[in-house]
Amino acid sequence: MKNYITTPIYYVNGEAHIGHAYTTFIADTLARYSRLQGNETYLLTGTDEHGQKIEESAQKQNKPTQQFADEISATFRNLWDEFNISYDQFIRTTDETHKKGVQAAFLKMFENGDIYKDFYEGNYCVSCETFFPESQLMDGGCCPDCGRATSIVKEESYFFRLSKYERPLLEYYEAHPEFILPKSRRNEVISFVRGGLNDLSVTRTSFSWGVHLPESLNEPKHVMYVWLDALMNYVTALGYGSDETKMNFWPANVQLVGKDILRFHAIYWPAFLMSLGLPLPKHIAAHGWWTRDGEKMSKSKGNVVDPREVSSHYGVENFRYFMMREVPFGQDGDFSQRALIDRMNSDLSNDLGNLLNRIIGMSEKYSDFRIDSCDVEKYHSKELNDANAIIDTLHPYLYELQLHRFLEELWKLFSIGNKAIEEHAPWVKIKEGRTDEALATVALVANLLAKASVMLHAVMPNTTSTIADALGFEITTESYTSLILNKTLLAPFNIKKIPPLFPRVEEPLMTEAPKAMVDEAPKAEPKPAMEDKKVSTVSEEGLITIDQFFQTSIKIGTVLDAEEVPKSSKLLKLKVDLGEESPRQIVAGIREYYSAESLINTQVCVVANLKPAKLMGLLSEGMILAAKDADGLCLVRPEKPRQSGSSVG
Ligand SMILES: [Zn+2]
Repeated sequence: MKNYITTPIYYVNGEAHIGHAYTTFIADTLARYSRLQGNETYLLTGTDEHGQKIEESAQKQNKPTQQFADEISATFRNLWDEFNISYDQFIRTTDETHKKGVQAAFLKMFENGDIYKDFYEGNYCVSCETFFPESQLMDGGCCPDCGRATSIVKEESYFFRLSKYERPLLEYYEAHPEFILPKSRRNEVISFVRGGLNDLSVTRTSFSWGVHLPESLNEPKHVMYVWLDALMNYVTALGYGSDETKMNFWPANVQLVGKDILRFHAIYWPAFLMSLGLPLPKHIAAHGWWTRDGEKMSKSKGNVVDPREVSSHYGVENFRYFMMREVPFGQDGDFSQRALIDRMNSDLSNDLGNLLNRIIGMSEKYSDFRIDSCDVEKYHSKELNDANAIIDTLHPYLYELQLHRFLEELWKLFSIGNKAIEEHAPWVKIKEGRTDEALATVALVANLLAKASVMLHAVMPNTTSTIADALGFEITTESYTSLILNKTLLAPFNIKKIPPLFPRVEEPLMTEAPKAMVDEAPKAEPKPAMEDKKVSTVSEEGLITIDQFFQTSIKIGTVLDAEEVPKSSKLLKLKVDLGEESPRQIVAGIREYYSAESLINTQVCVVANLKPAKLMGLLSEGMILAAKDADGLCLVRPEKPRQSGSSVG
């Protein structure tokens, strides 16, 4: 099977931000999984470099336009290389083959009678390079997409007969309900098309930085409308209009886009393809936007998340895992260091990392590192069947881009592993001389980790390769076929002792974004200085003195009030009396285990001298003690009521 996956080509009017990284991570994940399955896969990304805005930006910097485009394009490409993105091609709309392909497409549409010459007068947004009908403008004639002021522009233009495709598009959406993902966005597109499609102006004479019309049309003043030029990249990358040997990858399987450019991809793009007589992609998938600490990101606020900064402090694969696990595809997501750290400490360090460490430790003690799956089916057929059943459900989540569900389900394998260790307590069985049983439990967990690593590989390629190496195998299409499809177990091997993969992160490693600086645009581009704090690791042998212990102030607190934090499935906001002048606000990730009402007038133990932190934009002035295992979380509470503020120690 051939599988073609694309990201949008990124506009070179600024450097890559968290949204670009998110799209590209998802595309890379889909491509890697497809390759693992043995599909012939082609991942395309690149840069969109034409248009008036680029011409103007280059002029402002006193640079030749091509040089300006070269420089910004290179920053994207370098970032994807640093992030280990497995793209097969990085296309640039300034590539000669691309320009040729766009001209060939234009000519074909022209010859089909889908392109004609007329005059255009309308409200034009320079920033979006789009004309908008009066009815779509916002108050004061502003652009409905970016909010900037539009101006009336009249020029000679060629038009694409978009109106002709109104019916065919509606019929196509009807017949292919999965064309637009997530399905919630589908109606939005359909009602837009039902509202009527005007023919689309597809050339400009007001600037020259673009693809010129085919020479045979003899129209030197006209350059191609940037969206026609840009959208065509998905087929010119495969050689449309030049060397077409790779055109057998078309139609694309998944074309990822941000929700802001869905309309172009779900309406104009398929109409262009219909005009060219090419099949339509299987899925156009639109993801949401990212905020930071609950606030919209903007340059003037100085709170834009730099993906390179996050990755340099937390590791690119941890960042990647966080983004995919945290947000249901299509919805907006919030980036906060707290949430990232929580994911790293709980999912990666506690669930995955600890499980691996435990079996390394046990096999070192019990079997000199040897792990043999021979008795796993005998003692653990239930766990194995459960795990295989979960794995069987995973594939559709990827296919529907429900990556958060994919990961959530996958994580159940670690619960099975942890539970098996607790229930079967290999250390007890060893003492009782039931060595086979003890080793079978260790081998079960090794197999669960192996299967999980294979499935997780597309999300965390390097990390899972390290785990696989420790488990004596390599993640390849062959091991995918045997461990996942054929449900086999690992051949006997010696487990490798490796350092913990996910050291716990105790406090934010990046400088927090400046807060509430709205309307006070700083003069210089604010670039928060990075502090270089070390990731602290808790050594198993590391003992502390009583004085060190008492540096932590733990107090009894009485919960006066509790409420759910909107838009968070995990957080509760508590008012806790610590015997101080006023109660403290504490935000705790316990909503999955406690309802807000059930906490009111109960007592908890609070770490009272923590530096305040912000969770989802809410100040948290302390941490509540809780204990967690495979069965869930419970609060640590005083056995009898004590005065609020009593110290624990
Ligand atoms: Zn605009």
